[in-house]
Amino acid sequence: MTGPAGQGGAVTIPLPAPVAMLLDTLHRAGHSAYVVGGCVRDSLLGRRPGDWDICTDATPDQTKAIFSDCRQILTGEKHGTVALVLEGAVYEITTYRVEAGYSDGRHPDGVLFVPQLREDLARRDFTINAMAYSPTAGLVDLYGGRADLAAGLIRCVGDPAARFGEDALRILRAVRFAAQLGFSLEEATARAARQLCGTLNRISAERCFTELDKLLSGPNAGQVLSQYGEVLAGVIPEILPCIGCDQPGRWHCYDVWQHTAVAVGALNLQGLEERGAQMLRWAAFLHDLAKPLCRTVAADGTVHFYGHNQRGARLARDILRRLRASNALVQGASGLVAIHDAPLPQGDPATLRALGQYGAAFLRRLCRLKYADLDAHAQNGAVLARRREVEAFEERMSYLAVHGCYAVGMLQVNGGDVMEHGVRPGPMVGQVLHQLLQAVMEGRLPNDREALLEALDERQRRK
Ligand code: ATP
Ligand code: MG
Repeated sequence: MTGPAGQGGAVTIPLPAPVAMLLDTLHRAGHSAYVVGGCVRDSLLGRRPGDWDICTDATPDQTKAIFSDCRQILTGEKHGTVALVLEGAVYEITTYRVEAGYSDGRHPDGVLFVPQLREDLARRDFTINAMAYSPTAGLVDLYGGRADLAAGLIRCVGDPAARFGEDALRILRAVRFAAQLGFSLEEATARAARQLCGTLNRISAERCFTELDKLLSGPNAGQVLSQYGEVLAGVIPEILPCIGCDQPGRWHCYDVWQHTAVAVGALNLQGLEERGAQMLRWAAFLHDLAKPLCRTVAADGTVHFYGHNQRGARLARDILRRLRASNALVQGASGLVAIHDAPLPQGDPATLRALGQYGAAFLRRLCRLKYADLDAHAQNGAVLARRREVEAFEERMSYLAVHGCYAVGMLQVNGGDVMEHGVRPGPMVGQVLHQLLQAVMEGRLPNDREALLEALDERQRRK
């Protein structure tokens, strides 16, 4: 595009060839057509759009006829959407529409096709999402979306309370975009979000999960958690008692919720594959939720949170299940919460056992969680010493993950060798292999074929 977001002057958005072709074909057929929504927002921000949505005054029947030689997906037809598959990518063409009433605060009662772009833009959630563009008409920005992009503001189109009242999911979308884009909520939008977050319980778990997941992936997630804990509690009520739950003593400088926000913001996900990164984000988000339930004050006034690992793991599991997260995410995130504050294995045998039990990828994620957790503590000598312990563990664990032996399959002998040494086929073969593995992990035997065969000989002789 030319000219930065929010400044005057003509805007040119470079369109991918198939998108330009679709707009051109609709124009030639006598229709108005624009790219609209997220792709315009992202283009103006200099980001690569995830998908390109097109809106038009052509009805779905007209669109189908104009593109009769393209592969079409018609699952969204009654909402006005005809999806076309071009060069393997899907492009949605949607007839200008308005939503006809929201009696339940989450689903439009129906959609109504309208002839004008202006009406279609009015139904969209935020000013930055309510812009349209075509190479012939240029940028259509009726609500000051470009200025809000430049100012970094999420502002509802129209009256925020009314818009959130129609569809409570927009509340979550507002904080999600703030986290993704590093934007702030405009004042009236923020006020309405706080007022109406109690209505988030009308929204389906799946839709909430999608927004929360995107929120947590945003570079500004920590900031948004810090500011909008009460709003998120509209989806996860367990957050509420964490807000203001103080943790006096030398370790902490934040209450439980602010600690959580700082920990999420401090996560280092570099080099992790996406599924692992997702587990870690959710684990950091949920890791201390059980603290208010476990808080005790000893006779000397010291505050403890005994049992918050295990109890937190149960809460994390329940919450993720409630949000209909995948089993892998439920297990992965709650597994991390379950041991996030447990002492790390000390010494090679214990580290090898942990590698066998959890695997290297899980332990690497655990270290990342511990670093983020520690970054959200008071920064003093005691915390620094803990950080050193994690670093030392991670270094040794990474070495042993490659060079160590921590599974029966890594032994230099196998079941065949065991049977050749007088053990009859059956469960005993596995037991002998496990005994050898124990001896290797404890350093009593090297993982060396000669030495292991010798140990088997010795065992046979003793019998
Ligand atoms: P993303 O990059 O996450 O896809 P997006 O802005 O494209 O962001 P979508 O969910 O794909 O978000 O929606 C496309 C467009 O539809 C939005 O830009 C917005 O104009 C409109 N929209 C989506 N959901 C809502 C909603 N709940 N209420 C009003 N308008 C919405
Ligand atoms: Mg989109």
